[in-house]
Amino acid sequence: MAEGRHLLLVGGGHAHVEVLRRLARRPMPGWRVTLLTREVLSPYSGMLPGVAAGVYRAEQALIDTRALAARAGAALLLDEAQGLDPAARRLRRAGGAPVGYDLLSIDTGATPDLRGTPGAAEFALPLKPIDALLPRLDALLARARPGLRIAVVGAGAAGVEMACALAARLGGQGVQVVLVAGAAGLLPGRPARLVARVAAEAARLGIVLRVGEPVAEVVRDGLVFPRSPPLATDAVLWATGAAAAPWLAATGLPRDAAGFLRVGATLQVEGHEGIFAVGDVAGFAPRPLPKSGVHAVRQGPVLEANLRAVAEGRAPRAYRPQRDALVLLALGDGRAIGTRNGLVATGRWVWWWKDRIDRAFMRRYQAG
Ligand SMILES: Cc1cc2nc3c(=O)[nH]c(=O)nc-3n(C[C@H](O)[C@H](O)[C@H](O)COP(=O)(O)OP(=O)(O)OC[C@H]3O[C@@H](n4cnc5c(N)ncnc54)[C@H](O)[C@@H]3O)c2cc1C
Repeated sequence: MAEGRHLLLVGGGHAHVEVLRRLARRPMPGWRVTLLTREVLSPYSGMLPGVAAGVYRAEQALIDTRALAARAGAALLLDEAQGLDPAARRLRRAGGAPVGYDLLSIDTGATPDLRGTPGAAEFALPLKPIDALLPRLDALLARARPGLRIAVVGAGAAGVEMACALAARLGGQGVQVVLVAGAAGLLPGRPARLVARVAAEAARLGIVLRVGEPVAEVVRDGLVFPRSPPLATDAVLWATGAAAAPWLAATGLPRDAAGFLRVGATLQVEGHEGIFAVGDVAGFAPRPLPKSGVHAVRQGPVLEANLRAVAEGRAPRAYRPQRDALVLLALGDGRAIGTRNGLVATGRWVWWWKDRIDRAFMRRYQAG
């Protein structure tokens, strides 16, 4: 076994790719690093609707964690975490013996919430894991024909962007996209001005919006509602809220009411100074945060600084989330909608701005 103490990064999520990028520039002397993750190519969700719209090729939205780990001098272990023994400092995994660690960080994201709706797990196509989505999306695009009806269930940012992407790409071929917003409505929790603008743009793209009732059941050829008539569909994309992965229960770590790992301001799991959790897998105790890639990205530099601090026996610092983060939603037709501080803007220039931000993000992890 190699010398030194061991930093184990579990999950190739948005925060861990930043940790690796920084470690490549400035290693941690006396530490060896391992990234244990499920697959080599880690998808960047910000560009995924662009892939669905046909604006980007899939590989433009995928981060090569093998190359990133190599640059950081880290080992890559392709496997799936399944549990933890915090007292013995060992992570259990699907494909081999448990892995010991001195410092642990978990960035494994969330899973789609398919449990509450009968038939969803069987008949709907979840947006996550994204790597499983891409080939199934290709299969769906290949089926496009006049009269085909695709329902997108869940009208948060991801559902809205996916519906717009598919409508923009396939609307001209006579495919109909229905966005099922359920009881929570379109873009729950977002400013009314943004919601109104998105509703108008969705209508312009020919998207049919169904608001007011949750889906009671997904069946082979459609959606069933508690009161309204069923909706016949040829495909259902499942874009409802994120759930905690079941394996987190087997970690013995403190979790919030939804099952996510409870972390304090420094991103350390409560009561465990040597275990960090970031991104969607974490339940940020100081205040609830939306499960959004923005936080995973912004936590990356703080996480790296805090891992280094704990490794060197210094005090970690707090992650301070923005109160009103910038939201940019792609419309799939070469335009986007942006909002911040109550202002809403739509147009080609907003798309251009989003595209610049996303491409710059990807370049950071693709550079040799
Ligand atoms: C279609 C779509 C569009 C979106 N658009 C946006 C957007 O524009 N802006 C935004 O802010 N958010 C967006 N989101 C939300 C965003 O995807 C998530 O909030 C973000 O990906 C969370 O990042 P993360 O680092 O927590 O985890 P993830 O990005 O989910 O990464 C988790 C990683 O861990 C690995 N992994 C998972 N489980 C295990 C395990 N048990 N063992 C080992 N490895 C594991 C996975 O393979 C993956 O590499 C979108 C989501 C979707 C589905």
